[in-house]
Amino acid sequence: MLDTTWLPDKQGNFHKPGELKLDDLPQSFERDERLANQLGMKKDVVAKLAEEAGISQDTIKFAQELEKQPPDIRKKIETLLQKQDGGQPEFPQSSSADPKRRRERFAEQLAEAPEKMYEPRTRSVRVTQATEYTRVWLRNQYTNNKDQMICQICEKEMPFKKRDGEYYFEAVEAFSRDDFAKEYEAQFLAMCPLCAAMYNEFVKHDKRAMESLKNALMNSEDAKVSLQLGDLDTSVRFVDIHFRDIKTIIEAQE
Ligand SMILES: [Zn+2]
Repeated sequence: MLDTTWLPDKQGNFHKPGELKLDDLPQSFERDERLANQLGMKKDVVAKLAEEAGISQDTIKFAQELEKQPPDIRKKIETLLQKQDGGQPEFPQSSSADPKRRRERFAEQLAEAPEKMYEPRTRSVRVTQATEYTRVWLRNQYTNNKDQMICQICEKEMPFKKRDGEYYFEAVEAFSRDDFAKEYEAQFLAMCPLCAAMYNEFVKHDKRAMESLKNALMNSEDAKVSLQLGDLDTSVRFVDIHFRDIKTIIEAQE
């Protein structure tokens, strides 16, 4: 059956199965991949790809459709798929084409790398970062009735407790040192490490962002003011005492 010419193409000419792809068959023929495989028919590109990648042809057809979509739609679909994955993004992979050669080269580079150089430098180190007193004060202000310590920005529980059983948190000075030369506990904010890093990047290093936060605080009766951290629209929330104190501090500076 494989060596005789019995399978028709669209034009009605007969061929051996090995000479035709599923797509070459007349329209009225049902396309059955398994049968095509058993007959040893030629594989079209999609079928070949699917087999090599170990995925179905439908998935490839979906990918082809996806390819035609505008970038924002693709982004949305990607986000959806990630959410179904439990929100876990893909871990990056890097592999070397020639691991042995790479290891040899890396060993050479290591042998040639210069020793780290150290030179003594003097600089003024601020010893009064957030004092223990300030940290205790913040911890008390931002611990709720369930003994959970809450971040002033994301309002989530601090991510972990230290070995001593206390929550890990960062006491971040709300404004720069130029604005407040004196140490006062209310000028610090209690944040989780992620919010602290974003606050440092987007507020402390941006004079305009800092000014606009100050204005927002001064003009707000609500102890929660909105805050832009990069692309993130968020807010910073205070307990009542802290909110009044920080307003007093800002007023005293003006
Ligand atoms: Zn946070």
